[in-house]
Amino acid sequence: MKTTGIIVILLISVSISSAQTSILNLYPEIKLPKDSLESQKLVSSLNKFLIAAQADAKINEWVYEPEFLQTTLLLDEIEGIHKKEDSIFYKPYLLDINAIEKEQYIIQIAYLGTIDETPSIRASIELIAHKIENKYLFSSPLVRNTKHWKSTSVENYTFYYRDTIDLKKAKEYQRLTAFHDKKLNIDPKNTSVYLFEDDLISQKYFGLNYKLDYNGRGASIVWSVLLENQDIYVINNSILIEFDPHDLWHNRLSKVISRRKVNHAVDEGIATLHGGSWGFSWQEMFTEFQNQIQIDKHTDWLKLREQKSYFETPGHKNPTEFMITALFVKKIENEKGFSAVWELLNAKEEDAYFKTLEKLTGITKNNYNKEVWKLVKQEITNKI
Ligand SMILES: [Zn+2]
Repeated sequence: MKTTGIIVILLISVSISSAQTSILNLYPEIKLPKDSLESQKLVSSLNKFLIAAQADAKINEWVYEPEFLQTTLLLDEIEGIHKKEDSIFYKPYLLDINAIEKEQYIIQIAYLGTIDETPSIRASIELIAHKIENKYLFSSPLVRNTKHWKSTSVENYTFYYRDTIDLKKAKEYQRLTAFHDKKLNIDPKNTSVYLFEDDLISQKYFGLNYKLDYNGRGASIVWSVLLENQDIYVINNSILIEFDPHDLWHNRLSKVISRRKVNHAVDEGIATLHGGSWGFSWQEMFTEFQNQIQIDKHTDWLKLREQKSYFETPGHKNPTEFMITALFVKKIENEKGFSAVWELLNAKEEDAYFKTLEKLTGITKNNYNKEVWKLVKQEITNKI
């Protein structure tokens, strides 16, 4: 039995190693570089790059190091690309090689498979080959495609753009992100943001000409790779110009905890307090809330909570409860700091919520109406 086991292992390892020496398919018509030694080096390096790219993208030693960050976007897309369900189905085919500069080539590859003679294309990608010593290393074409662009740094963010940038928005985005991240203990990372004018071509800029998985929705995708010490984004310029400060809170929170695990009203309260809602600032929201809800010392806030009452802004119904939790958050943060708000945020269920609220503020169901009225009154005074 032992012998059979060894034979099986040997057979598997032989088939893996033979499969791994060459996965790239070449058509006889492909025009390779004329120097046969050079073209052999290029094809052999490309093979090794593609084999490594099927596994963990972050440890591919065939990546051209100076452009590693920009190449991660493409590497992320090729990782596991050969699989259909669990079997190996798509194979890389070399479509085109063109010399662009001395010892640099632009390469096009398609991942193809066939079922019952029906061809299927998973992706079409573009790479740049750079000759380093006796071999070739590969990068995404992003740096080359944006080499005439401008760049602007705002603290730890570097924005790359072709013509113009809304610097006011870029600063606001950085400031608010840093504001939330500090509370959430997210360390600032160097972040590169490539801003495109046209969603439909952004993926082509980093070398992903086509991918079956995204057909019909290329325009709505935010491309990003988050590494341990740096991040990269490829986004449409409008995402920066129209960024929603409310959603920015949700987005930053989701980096440290699943939003499904936290108290929804507290999450919304924080987002509204620091980012307003649906384009209205916190002050505008509060004015609408004040105008539409019957507010005086007799208001039964507990009843409004149970009835899930709301007030309206154009096109949206806003739960009264989110405004009240925002006031609790403000009070707790002022008195006890964000770690106390974090406790309330993590009190997801009703019982836990009231228990934590009482512990942090002394507010219970018995004194709820009186205490909420105090906070509402205070907010009205602050506004004036
Ligand atoms: Zn929200």
